[in-house]
Amino acid sequence: MIGFDLSDEQLALREMTERFVREEIVPKAAHHDATGEYPREIGRKAFELGLMNITVPEDYGGGGLGHLEEAIVTEELCYGCAGIAICITVNNLATVPLAIAGSEALKKRYLGMLTSDHATASYCLSEPDAGSDAAAIATTAQRKGDRYVISGSKAWVTGGPQARWFVLFAKTDRSLGSKGVSAFIVPADSPGIRIGKKEDMMGQRASSTVFIDFEEVAVPADHLLGAEGDGFRIAMKTFDRTRPGIAAGAVGVARRATDEAIRYAKERKAFGKPISEHQAVQFLIADMYKECAAARLLTWHAAWKIDRGERNTLECSIAKCFGADAAMRVTTDAVQVFGGYGYSKEFPVEKLMRDAKVLQIYEGTNQIQRLIIARQVLGS
Ligand SMILES: Cc1cc2nc3c(=O)[nH]c(=O)nc-3n(C[C@H](O)[C@H](O)[C@H](O)COP(=O)(O)OP(=O)(O)OC[C@H]3O[C@@H](n4cnc5c(N)ncnc54)[C@H](O)[C@@H]3O)c2cc1C
Repeated sequence: MIGFDLSDEQLALREMTERFVREEIVPKAAHHDATGEYPREIGRKAFELGLMNITVPEDYGGGGLGHLEEAIVTEELCYGCAGIAICITVNNLATVPLAIAGSEALKKRYLGMLTSDHATASYCLSEPDAGSDAAAIATTAQRKGDRYVISGSKAWVTGGPQARWFVLFAKTDRSLGSKGVSAFIVPADSPGIRIGKKEDMMGQRASSTVFIDFEEVAVPADHLLGAEGDGFRIAMKTFDRTRPGIAAGAVGVARRATDEAIRYAKERKAFGKPISEHQAVQFLIADMYKECAAARLLTWHAAWKIDRGERNTLECSIAKCFGADAAMRVTTDAVQVFGGYGYSKEFPVEKLMRDAKVLQIYEGTNQIQRLIIARQVLGS
């Protein structure tokens, strides 16, 4: 059986998020985009409303909901502002690997830290010289007695300055390639951590992304997730669960651009009639709407598979790749519908276009998603 109806609970969750976005995010989005100011208060309100840590099991104080619910919430948040949304959803990249591979004691302590009060954690995989090729990371973790000592540099850490702890990937054996990668929980107040300046980014500017140096940072040996050498597998399993969230965000950005374009096309007149009556504009808008609808179905399918406990590597790469490309096309077309005004910061669509671009880059570029899809369908 296949059903596309949301349950009463899912509809209520969507309605609550929609109201929160309308009242708390939309009015402040332009300010945070212009200033790059971190939206701490909005994050706190989202936390109090239960919009953070949605998929963290209830045993650890989380929402205990599924990835489909997370997709529904993320679409709405990104409809309001993808940059602010990232500050609300950032924990997913850290809580998922901990939930997958952490000991009971680690889960209680570190998931509890995020669910008992408004707090965030970040994910440190990428490095200045290794992004797509994650197995090429150079950060090392050396076992010394009852500790691991971590040294290296991490790049593009979303939410780095605010994080209470990091999930960090490092080589415990450099000779083993991807099989030598291990994952650790690293408390952010550990001596030896140096957080760089906030990157001045094209889009999603409310979010704080930084480079971080780890210089002989010691963590207890029991802060290893899983066993030594499990890190690469944990990182990839994490993406299978978090990429539908990126796809959902892409749907939110694209849907907002479509709504803005529809509104504008009905108001703006050219050649004696609203531009919405020119067929070329109608076709642009029809394609935008079509892309949103297709991207949402792919996203829900990928999320639904996780909630059923099924492998979704193929589906989540399809959803992430299609959704991010759709968001880029749709937001670019929204600027086109606005004509010259689309190019001005006075109107909302240029921000949407800037916000969309990074969706094709983070959590695995869309080229990497195509590699994953090709490997799966070619059986290689
Ligand atoms: C705003 C932002 C936030 C981020 N947040 C985080 C975070 O919180 N944690 C984290 O760990 N990382 C984060 N990242 C890093 C992100 O995941 C990487 O930027 C991404 O994986 C690409 O790596 P790279 O930038 O090193 O590009 P590269 O790997 O150098 O790639 C450069 C180009 O080459 C292409 N390419 C590379 N290899 C291949 C190949 N085999 N086939 C085809 N094309 C290829 C890529 O698709 C890309 O177009 C973030 C990045 C940004 C911009």
